[in-house]
Amino acid sequence: MSALRHSGDARGLLSFMLPDIAVCCPRCDGMALVWPEQDERDRFTGRAKLACAHCGLSRANHEHRWLGPVWPQNYTTRWRCGACGGYHISFPRRQYASIAKVPRVFGARCSGCGSETGLPLGASPVSFARGALDPFFGLKLFLVANVRGNDLWAFNKAHLDILRSYVSAGLREKRTEGSRPLDQRLPGWMIGSGSRGAAVKALDDLERRLARSSRNEVRQSHTRAFGAQKP
Ligand SMILES: [Zn+2]
Ligand SMILES: [Zn+2]
Repeated sequence: MSALRHSGDARGLLSFMLPDIAVCCPRCDGMALVWPEQDERDRFTGRAKLACAHCGLSRANHEHRWLGPVWPQNYTTRWRCGACGGYHISFPRRQYASIAKVPRVFGARCSGCGSETGLPLGASPVSFARGALDPFFGLKLFLVANVRGNDLWAFNKAHLDILRSYVSAGLREKRTEGSRPLDQRLPGWMIGSGSRGAAVKALDDLERRLARSSRNEVRQSHTRAFGAQKP
């Protein structure tokens, strides 16, 4: 079950995106669902659909693209000051809330002479695992809790259940020589002796939060938006 490794083996983790991903609706902040599309060989196509039962929003990601946070990009390897010619200018290492918020040209300050040089900027999506985002639209996941400064997140109920079973099991079982320790498959902070209890409590809270949101209502909304066939 390498799927539980939150970094490294992302392919296994991605299988937990099925059948859908609970996200915060970009319009009303209620729970919306994202349905990843698969091809006939069960591979993800990169396309997905989004629907919110609360406000009726429905979108397909090949039409509306990335809605989430981005890193600015500039494809020059060394940035040279336009005034003094030195390589002293600094690039913005901060996220922007969306592609639209990224300035087309960034005024980079030279630490050598103090003047500004305009750097054309592009943008690339923030990694979903780092941002607790859905990988298709970049929307904030609905099931996110903070445990001692770390984000604990799950795509959906099935993902939540398996995280809880492993973290809870870790509370009971001692590591045995020769067996593959559970600790290798979960982030260290989640199963550290000091935070396991807090992680289980957070997972229980997320479960209650999910139960409060009506999945049936959301599914009806999807049917209204995209028809009765499988998305
Ligand atoms: Zn909504
Ligand atoms: Zn300069």
